[in-house]
Amino acid sequence: MNGIVTSSDVASPFQAAPNSENKRAAYTPQNKRKILCVFPKYSRSFGTFHHTYKLMHGLRACMPPQGIMVIAAYLPQQWEVRLIDENIKPASDADYRWADAVLVSGMHIQRNAMNQINERAHSFGKITALGGPSVSACAEYYPDFDLLHVGELGDATDQLIQYLDKQTKRPERQIEFKTVERLPMQQFPVPAYHLLPLQSYLMATIQFSSGCPYTCEFCDIPELYGRNPRLKSPQQVCAELDAILKAGNPGGVYFVDDNFVGNRKAAQELVPHLVEWQKKNGYPLQFACEATLNIAKSEELLALMREAYFATIFCGIETPETAALKAISKSQNLSVPMLDSIKLLNSYGLEVVSGIILGLDTDTEETADHVLEFIRLSQIPMLTINILYALPKTPLWRRLEKEGRLVPDENRESNVKFLLPYDQVVEKWRYCITAAYQPEFVYERFIHNIHNTFSHRIPLAPSKERVNFTNICKGLDMLLRVIVRVGIFGFYRKTFWKMAWPALKKGDIESLLHVGMVAHHLILFARECGAGVESASFYSQRMQEQDSSELQSVGAD
Ligand code: SF4
Repeated sequence: MNGIVTSSDVASPFQAAPNSENKRAAYTPQNKRKILCVFPKYSRSFGTFHHTYKLMHGLRACMPPQGIMVIAAYLPQQWEVRLIDENIKPASDADYRWADAVLVSGMHIQRNAMNQINERAHSFGKITALGGPSVSACAEYYPDFDLLHVGELGDATDQLIQYLDKQTKRPERQIEFKTVERLPMQQFPVPAYHLLPLQSYLMATIQFSSGCPYTCEFCDIPELYGRNPRLKSPQQVCAELDAILKAGNPGGVYFVDDNFVGNRKAAQELVPHLVEWQKKNGYPLQFACEATLNIAKSEELLALMREAYFATIFCGIETPETAALKAISKSQNLSVPMLDSIKLLNSYGLEVVSGIILGLDTDTEETADHVLEFIRLSQIPMLTINILYALPKTPLWRRLEKEGRLVPDENRESNVKFLLPYDQVVEKWRYCITAAYQPEFVYERFIHNIHNTFSHRIPLAPSKERVNFTNICKGLDMLLRVIVRVGIFGFYRKTFWKMAWPALKKGDIESLLHVGMVAHHLILFARECGAGVESASFYSQRMQEQDSSELQSVGAD
């Protein structure tokens, strides 16, 4: 049984500083510590973009892990901290030997990898601590970690730090620290961007808000992070952008907020600061975010986002079927006709990326065809098409549990007992994904977006932050790789040239590279899905196991 320690048991070592609006004073540790923070490797998915890595020199992963960068920055300044993202490179034996304690964080999809890191740290006799969204939702998944940090950054973090300051011996039984009082986001430190090789990522990450006011049935965000979004100040966000530039600008920044317009007024107040920052710095970054589709109701905000150079927006469309949206409590998608919303977002230069779920209770034999028709009409190039998976701590999980429809078989693509036969759902998913990513179909949608979305972005003057020797060399290298790997040796090279040749003639290298790289990943990944190599659900255990064993084999230094 866990020994549970809560904030009422242990006095916080972080006292409120006088005259500082309750801002916490930095904790002064009594001992020097070396902390190894490890973020586990992801399973391959649409979102990892791993097929693009060979098309860009030095590219190793999609995005740096935001949460563990914040924790690394929050640790006492007097302590030495190493941060390893195993998506870039595995932690070495020397790293483990160096450390006094090993901190790990991750999502459910990284569960096996997290437990393996724990085992490895224990084999070096090191105390381990685990935080992040997965343990916060399901502490029972991690019985072998020494210390658990449940919940967000807050009093549990302070207690964990105090504990590690006092001792680094492994406890006899697991201790759980649970956040009761969250640290206000306005007191969050600037994430430790400098501890990671930012230029090895496709884009950097930043967080403005946490939480979402909606209650979609399958989503664990409202329960984990609340329905009333908490916010950073615009000044904080700009300071973080400065830190990203200083650490090695990868050219793009993804707002990892659960819903960028969870608090629409706050987003509207933030974006003018982003515009000002971009102008001051010569527009060195392209922004992306996640938001509900009803952002289309705020044209003033969209105009500002265009000026700030937001280029991509991920909207959880989930399904084009109205009855299904109502059944999963996602009626907010229906407040404006969906196709009109997408067209409007495109007119502000925003390429829409969408999530689609198959296997909903309302699905029929025709649903996959409805999805494909929706893709054709919306011209959305990239959609993550997944099979429904019930996450713990969601209304969906509780309903299915009551109905006896949770299937904990790790060899299945999903833990849901669908209303349609399982094989049929998987077959429809395979049909849908392979049809959606036929090269001709993907390229048709991207070409549509070149003309109807990218063309609406603000023209950028060539500033030295964007057009410099390093970036020109990087661009030429990417161009060469795309032309050789896709344009010469790619199996769909004829289709590629239908887009690439006009783009080259117009000198639109940016579109050529974007489409060439992203489409390449989508096409190859979908082919693997069709061949049964990749998994149908982002959360499926099948690929996690495969990836974790790969990781083990490269783990030694
Ligand atoms: S809108 Fe998005 S973040 Fe909010 S509850 Fe729904 S799926 Fe979750």
